[in-house]
Amino acid sequence: MNPIVIVGGGIGGLASALALAHLGYQSIVLESRPPSAHIDRGDVLHAGVLPLLSRWGADRDIAAHNPFQFHRFRIASGNGRILLDADTREILGDNHCFTSLRHPNITAALRSAAHRTGLVDVVNGVRCVELLGSGGRISEVHTATATYPSSLAIIASGARSRFARRYFGAPNVYRYATAFYNACVRTVDGYGDCGFYILSDDGAMVLVPLPEGLQRIGIQVRSSQLNQVAAPDFLRETIAARFRPLAGVPLELVERPHTYRLYRAVNDWWSRPGAILLGDAARQVHPVGGQGMNLAIRDADVLAGCLNAAGCPRAATRIDHAIASYGAQRQRSVRPTLRRTHLLGVAAERAPTAASMAAVQLAGRIMPVKRNLLRAMMDVR
Ligand SMILES: Cc1cc2nc3c(=O)[nH]c(=O)nc-3n(C[C@H](O)[C@H](O)[C@H](O)COP(=O)(O)OP(=O)(O)OC[C@H]3O[C@@H](n4cnc5c(N)ncnc54)[C@H](O)[C@@H]3O)c2cc1C
Repeated sequence: MNPIVIVGGGIGGLASALALAHLGYQSIVLESRPPSAHIDRGDVLHAGVLPLLSRWGADRDIAAHNPFQFHRFRIASGNGRILLDADTREILGDNHCFTSLRHPNITAALRSAAHRTGLVDVVNGVRCVELLGSGGRISEVHTATATYPSSLAIIASGARSRFARRYFGAPNVYRYATAFYNACVRTVDGYGDCGFYILSDDGAMVLVPLPEGLQRIGIQVRSSQLNQVAAPDFLRETIAARFRPLAGVPLELVERPHTYRLYRAVNDWWSRPGAILLGDAARQVHPVGGQGMNLAIRDADVLAGCLNAAGCPRAATRIDHAIASYGAQRQRSVRPTLRRTHLLGVAAERAPTAASMAAVQLAGRIMPVKRNLLRAMMDVR
């Protein structure tokens, strides 16, 4: 049997390699970036995916990078009023923590766990340029210099991937009117053990504690403001305007911030004979709630589950049957998350009203509502 060839060594590609190695499948991961590439997004692992990482033996690799765990989450108004305060362990149980780790460390952990299986070969610095096959079935992945025969090609080439678009058609795209400015700073006193979502008149903002005394500050900015983000005082002034308790508090940037334009992009087809889409290549969601990377890990688990249910097939026709089931199952189960993140993303583009603040406050006081909100975010499906 030819190996499974995975296009893209981000979280989705590596999680797939790991999940499939667990079933005894051999795979080759082809990644265009060097292993040292620094990706500055996606640093919260939710409680729902940690058991998957443990099952695949990656928990000790994650632990080796000293992740930070926290269990408090607050939604606040721009003047610092707490609208919703949640202790996720108290509400959902002891295992319901947020686990934060810088994205490159999550990638490194999955890569080392994958290597240890002896079944995964990660090749960095190679760009896949073409998929080929016969009779409508994909059976080869081509780079500029080599051909990789594949029993299955997993296209995990990330958001808005031209490679994915070429073989699975154009996704349905919604362009949000805002972009996300992502900065990493030294921990701000008093904010090192709790995630914050701030609803201000100028737009939403998130604060996330990270390991090693660091903190993520994510700021939703209007596309029309993008020409201002490079200004030296942008971060300080924006934070002062959006969250009064932090006005005047010194902030120490540890690296150059990154800005991301925001899209929702969903493909109609996630599988075709010999190939599937996985992770952001299949669907990109708004970053509110930190779902994208977690969904990619869940995709890998569902793919492995479908192949396992089919008896870990080696024959092309049986693999195709299993991946058709993966596509159908995933499209169905991510629908609520897509809807929720989209609504939250659109809502965050508007200035909060007295009514919307009151609704958040009410949700914070009614335990079943609060519990369901947290569960939807943390038990990523
Ligand atoms: C501001 C921001 C904050 C976010 N925060 C969170 C969060 O806290 N939690 C969360 O769960 N998600 C978060 N996300 C989303 C998360 O980052 C993504 O959903 C996740 O990284 C997707 O993983 P992936 O493997 O599908 O794609 P990617 O991480 O994009 O990986 C795709 C890989 O494929 C490679 N590639 C592309 N084309 C080719 C080719 N032709 N040949 C070979 N290799 C190729 C790329 O180099 C890349 O390494 C955030 C997103 C943004 C924008």
